[in-house]
Amino acid sequence: MRFASLGSGSKGNATLIEAGDTLVLVDCGFTLKETRVRLAARGIELGQLSAILVTHEHGDHIRGVGPVARQAGCPVYSSFGTACAVEDKPASLRNTQWQEVRPGRAFRIGELEVLPVLVPHDAREPCQYRFGWQQRTLGVLTDLGSITPHVVDAYSECDALVLECNHDPRMLANGPYPASLKRRVGGMLGHLSNAQAAALLRQANTDRLQHLVLSHLSEQNNTATLALAEIQAALDTGHERIGVASQNQGFDWLQVI
Ligand SMILES: [Zn+2]
Ligand SMILES: [Zn+2]
Repeated sequence: MRFASLGSGSKGNATLIEAGDTLVLVDCGFTLKETRVRLAARGIELGQLSAILVTHEHGDHIRGVGPVARQAGCPVYSSFGTACAVEDKPASLRNTQWQEVRPGRAFRIGELEVLPVLVPHDAREPCQYRFGWQQRTLGVLTDLGSITPHVVDAYSECDALVLECNHDPRMLANGPYPASLKRRVGGMLGHLSNAQAAALLRQANTDRLQHLVLSHLSEQNNTATLALAEIQAALDTGHERIGVASQNQGFDWLQVI
């Protein structure tokens, strides 16, 4: 199993996961044109996608979902709430092969086992995903405001983890956002701070972790250096490789062995 990102942050997100002959895209926050270019940079063509999985209806996750799915001719998976929320938007899933996912209920797409995990975030029915392939587990976990026992459980014992480190609370407090947006981002249904991400890693079992990629970093309210410092302090063994996903480049393929 291997995974890569086409870009990560509030301007657009998309993560590729490949296992055997199955290739899925988690979210597509880029336009069709942009997605083609970013896929090509990872050696992938649109027609190779087996499916697109959507986490929630925010623009940075859904912008290209409808057009990309229609062009690729692949199904789109999301919760019922997410599909309803985009019904009247340009990102509408109309004329796609939409499939409902039920949080907590695992299902298969080709060779991948997929578990949708309900998360606390300010969207209609947001869920993140955990993937299984041949005894290996990869977690994608961004866009949540709180760590709950449910989330810690679901993302324990991952072999690889793409984890939100959205902001440094001090930079957020002193930064350029209006007060209402600061409250939203830092709130219980907003985004994970570096410290919250570190707390999750302390609570979860990370013994198997090979790869950790810090993701969805705010360009205004965080730096890779701050995020890395906080996360490294939370991991005692230091055996895992830690990377940082960027808005422009995402991150290149990583292999889960
Ligand atoms: Zn987001
Ligand atoms: Zn969001």
